[in-house]
Amino acid sequence: MHIDRMINQKPPFLSLEFFPPKEEKDWETFFGRVEKLRALSPLFVSITCGAGGTSKTNTLEIASRLQNEMGLETMAHLTCLGGNKEDINHSLEQLRASEVNNVLALRGDPPKEGATSLTQPDFTYAADLVSYIREHAPDMGIGVAGYPEAHPESSSIAVDRRHMKEKLDRGADFLVTQFVFDNRVYFEFIERMRELGVTQPIIPGVLPVLSLKSVRYILSLSGASVPGRFYLQLQEAHERGGVAEVRRLGIAFAREQVRGLLEGGAPGVHLYTLNQADPCLQIAEGIF
Ligand code: FAD
Repeated sequence: MHIDRMINQKPPFLSLEFFPPKEEKDWETFFGRVEKLRALSPLFVSITCGAGGTSKTNTLEIASRLQNEMGLETMAHLTCLGGNKEDINHSLEQLRASEVNNVLALRGDPPKEGATSLTQPDFTYAADLVSYIREHAPDMGIGVAGYPEAHPESSSIAVDRRHMKEKLDRGADFLVTQFVFDNRVYFEFIERMRELGVTQPIIPGVLPVLSLKSVRYILSLSGASVPGRFYLQLQEAHERGGVAEVRRLGIAFAREQVRGLLEGGAPGVHLYTLNQADPCLQIAEGIF
């Protein structure tokens, strides 16, 4: 079923994002963790694809198994950077054959080596991919990515928001946000997007901070900011009790954030699981 239809039927909901393990030997552990997380009855799960379309085969295969063997409504991430229409057709055919009916249509990022040009002959932006899927696979549910604090490459927040709206105008059903750590940023984003005329569901992304190292990643790559107060608390937690204390604080923070988002009227929460079951169970316990 298309995810946007399910969203309207069952608020507030939880959705879970996973990434394909690099090594096939780790798949068993991975599926074991997903199995544990079924206890949360996620509305849907999503599976990422690597930068520049790498790991696409694994994404498609894992999506098929999540959908068919585990019975979870699954959304496969599909990037267009580094691919052409033929690649996209192939992915869409495979997804259709596996009865995976939802994709997150993304431009993607170039692999770290930077070999891939950002302009491709067939698709330049995610909006182009949305139009293509709408035309060639009209039966597919389509989500897109959104950036409450603006995409790192954008020249201005206002221009970036117009580009996000374009993806929805071209036929996307809903938007999943980059993680935010301050719920006010999400609610402000909603207000501005509604003012622009966006009516589709906007699902907030929540990332549990499980180590100080991950903060470095968040700050350097994602375009999201970590509130200063939270950062200081994480540092203090580290001095007090090392990795375990940071993890405890990160889980407690995410749990409060999820509560606040739902209380404030978010339709649900998209949890970036980091492929870990126990922290996600602790965050969601008693809420979903
Ligand atoms: P776009 O919407 O195309 O936007 C990219 C940039 O181009 C923005 O700065 C935008 O303002 C600008 N732009 C858009 N349209 C125009 C236009 N007409 N003219 C000029 N500028 C324009 N990456 C992966 O590789 N794999 C994943 O699985 C993955 N999953 C993600 C899931 C979520 C929920 C999110 C939020 C991000 C994910 N990403 C993933 C990261 C994403 O691919 C990168 O952030 C990428 O740089 C942008 O992708 P996009 O689809 O948002 O691109």
